[in-house]
Amino acid sequence: MRSIAILNQKGGVGKTTTAVNLASAIARMGHKVCVLDLDPQAHASLHLGIGVASGTESIYQVLMGEASLEEVRHEAGENLWCIPAHLDLAAAEMELAGEVGREMILRDAMEVHGKQYDYLIIDCPPSLGVLTLNALACVDEVFLPLQPHFLALHGLSKLLRTVDIVSKRINPGLRLTGVVLCLFESGTRLAGEVAGDVHDFFDRGTSEGKTWASAEVFQTRIRRNIRLAEAPSFGQSIFDYDPSSNGAEDYTNLAREVLGLGLSSKSTEEAMAESA
Ligand code: ADP
Ligand code: MG
Repeated sequence: MRSIAILNQKGGVGKTTTAVNLASAIARMGHKVCVLDLDPQAHASLHLGIGVASGTESIYQVLMGEASLEEVRHEAGENLWCIPAHLDLAAAEMELAGEVGREMILRDAMEVHGKQYDYLIIDCPPSLGVLTLNALACVDEVFLPLQPHFLALHGLSKLLRTVDIVSKRINPGLRLTGVVLCLFESGTRLAGEVAGDVHDFFDRGTSEGKTWASAEVFQTRIRRNIRLAEAPSFGQSIFDYDPSSNGAEDYTNLAREVLGLGLSSKSTEEAMAESA
């Protein structure tokens, strides 16, 4: 199983949109994918059409040792599952504060459960607290979504340091492997400049021996596309909501890069037939 945490402690950079639509694209290419929602805002769950009513079980109960991943998991489409979050997850940060081994709960729970998937994609909350540490202890890879903004790289050193520390102390295999430019406004000078800075940082940065030394800035840039912003309120991935949109094309291409298939302008269906 390949396991990826979508992480950036800033909100609004495209984490959830990427987690849901990248997962959906990979599932449509014939792989079994699980989206784990670790954000108390539960946006990824809602985006996949799963609303967890108050009192029903979600990842919160798993972290509290009151339910198993199997019990809280929902089917979200063909080859696609979701382990949903609920607002009560906001309390987990506090409730786990005194717990021994609190960063390892998810990893332990996923050890057996995870075997049935080809891909695990975790949508992280916008913080570097205990929930995010659980994600980082559990996965092999981190993808960093960045919004081309003049402060895009601001706060990055803290994130990279966190990944480094988790790798040194609890999860030696952890690496930042991918950088995704989201909400990209092609043709604007700012987007071009920021993309250049991001490439400079990751392609030529002083990263030797660091967990981000082999990070790839994906060629696919996720263009700003209104259909991507509309899809969540219908509880649908971009492929169900508008398969002919730029958003569907961009996330298909991103999935192809992630799977190592190379870029093309082929539709998901063609790509699916090819990878099957
Ligand atoms: P995060 O999870 O990092 O907070 P989201 O994925 O929720 O970020 O994105 C923030 C907002 O921007 C959401 O309203 C989302 O629908 C919208 N959005 C994300 N990516 C795009 C895009 N490429 N084009 C247009 N809107 C987008
Ligand atoms: Mg989010």
